[in-house]
Amino acid sequence: MTSYTPPGDGPFAIPTGLLIGERWIPAANGATIAVDDPATGATLATVADAAPEEGIAAVDAAAAAATSWAATAPRRRAEVLLACYHAMMAQQEWLARLIALENGKALPDARGEVAYAAEFFRWYAEEAVRIPGELATSPAGGNRIMVRYQPIGIALLITPWNFPAAMATRKIAPALAAGCTCILKPAAETPLTALAVAEIMRRAGVPAGVVNVVTTSRPGPVCSAILHDPRVRKLSFTGSTQVGRVLLREAADQVISSSMELGGNAPFVVFDDADLDAAIDGAMVAKMRNAGEACTAANRFYVQRGIHDRFVARLVERMGALTVGPGTDPATQCGAMINRKAVEKIERLVADAVGKGARVELGGRTPAGDGCFYPPSVIADVRPGSAILHEEVFGPVAAVTGFDTEDEAVALANDTEYGLAAYVYSGDLRRALAVADRIDCGMVAVNRGLVSDAAAPFGGMKQSGLGREGSHHGLLEYCEAKYIAVTW
Ligand code: NAP
Repeated sequence: MTSYTPPGDGPFAIPTGLLIGERWIPAANGATIAVDDPATGATLATVADAAPEEGIAAVDAAAAAATSWAATAPRRRAEVLLACYHAMMAQQEWLARLIALENGKALPDARGEVAYAAEFFRWYAEEAVRIPGELATSPAGGNRIMVRYQPIGIALLITPWNFPAAMATRKIAPALAAGCTCILKPAAETPLTALAVAEIMRRAGVPAGVVNVVTTSRPGPVCSAILHDPRVRKLSFTGSTQVGRVLLREAADQVISSSMELGGNAPFVVFDDADLDAAIDGAMVAKMRNAGEACTAANRFYVQRGIHDRFVARLVERMGALTVGPGTDPATQCGAMINRKAVEKIERLVADAVGKGARVELGGRTPAGDGCFYPPSVIADVRPGSAILHEEVFGPVAAVTGFDTEDEAVALANDTEYGLAAYVYSGDLRRALAVADRIDCGMVAVNRGLVSDAAAPFGGMKQSGLGREGSHHGLLEYCEAKYIAVTW
C-alpha cells in the first residue's frame, strides 16, 4: 500500500489508501488525488480517489462491524476512546506539523487544533458510560414509560478542510461512544490529517470496520451512493451551507437523521463601556485563529461610536504586527489560505466593500508569489449592502462598522441568514447577557474571543445548521430514543 512520510520524525508513514474494514486498500481503478501545500503550490502526496462502489464497500465494512460494536460494553468503548486520546496527544507535535503543512495554518493554531481534536476522544470516553435512560409513570397511571437510547446505526461523516483533525474527531468520538460504526469522508484538500488520525485510532485498538475512511474527488456521487444504501441511518456534515442544502435533499430520500454544522458570519459587538484591552485580545482570537478560516470567525465588527476610533487604531496595530508566512515556519502567526479560490473570494469581498465606500485601514492587497497568502486586513466604514456583511469572508479581514444604540447593534448582528456564533463585549454584564439573548445564533461569547469547547454544545441556528456537536447533546445525535410501554 502506498504511504506518505511527512518531514521530521513520526510514528509511521501515513497510509494513503482507503480504510475499508481491517485494511488500507488502493482505489480499484488506481485513481489518485493530489494534495498540495498551499504555502508553495507544490504537491505533497497523492491519496486514493474512491468511486461510488468503494463507498458501498465501506458501508459493507461498517455493517459487518455494527452489531458487535453496538454490543461492546460501554466501559470498553470508553477505554478504546481514551486510548485514542492518549495516542493522539503523544503525536501532538507531529500531527500539528502535518496540519500546518497541508492546511497552511500557523503551527500554534495547528497545535491548538490537535489538543481540541483529541479532547473529543477524552470527553466522549467519559460520556460513553453515561448514556442516559428514562423511566416515568404515564399520567393516566398503569403504563410505565421506559426510554432507552440506542445507537442510531451506520453514520456517514463528511468534514471540511479548515479543521481537518477536529472536525473528524468531533463526529467520530460521539458516534463510537454511542455504539455506531462510521464512514469518514474527509475534504479533498486535507485528507492526510484524517488518514493519520484514522491510523492512530486503528493502532490504539479501534476494531476493524468501526471507522472506515473514503477519500474521493467525486464527493457528490460517492456520498449519494452511501446515503441511498438503506443500511445507513445517520449523516453528520460540517461544511458550507450550500453543500449542506444539497446533502439534506439527498438524505431526504431515505429520511436519514441529519446533523448539519454549516457556515457562519459572526458579529463581534463592542459597547463603549467594554474593556478595550480585553476586546482587542478577544478580537485577535475571534478573527485570527486559523487566519480567519473558521466557521466561528468574527467577520462583522460592530463597534459603538464612543470607542470606535480607538478600537480600530488598536486592531490595526495588533493585526499589522502579525508575521505572515508558511504554517510550518515557527515564526508564522498568520498562515496561508487553503487555495487560490479562497484568496480570490477575499479579494472580491474587499473590492466590493471598498467600491461601496469602505476605507482600507490595513492590508487589503494580495502579495505577489505562488503561495495562497492574504495579509491581515482591517476595513472600516463598511456600508450596508456590502457583500462582506452577508457572505463568509473566511480569511484575515476584519470589516468594521460603527453603531449608536443597543437596538441598532442587535438589528445589525441579526441581519444575516447565518446564526452560528456571536461575540459581545461590555463592562455591564446585564447588558451583555440581554444582548446575547437577542442575537439569533447558537453560541455567544461574552467578553471572550473563543467559544469552542468539547464540553459545550456547538452548533447554529437559522441556515448555520441543525443539531449540536460536543457535550452530551453531541452524543444524542447518534442515538435513537426507544420508548417501551410497560404494564408493571
Ligand atoms: P464544503 O465545500 O461545503 O465542503 C465540505 C465537505 O463536503 C468536503 O469534504 C467536501 O468534499 C464535501 N462535499 C462537497 N460537495 C459535496 C457533495 N455534493 N456531496 C457530499 N459531500 C460534498 O466546505 P469547505 O469549503 O470544505 O469548508 C468551509 C465551510 O465549512 C465554511 O462554510 C465553514 O463555515 C464551514 N464550517 C462549519 C463548521 C461548523 O461547525 N458549523 C466548522 C467548520 C467549517 P471536497 O473537499 O471534495 O469538496
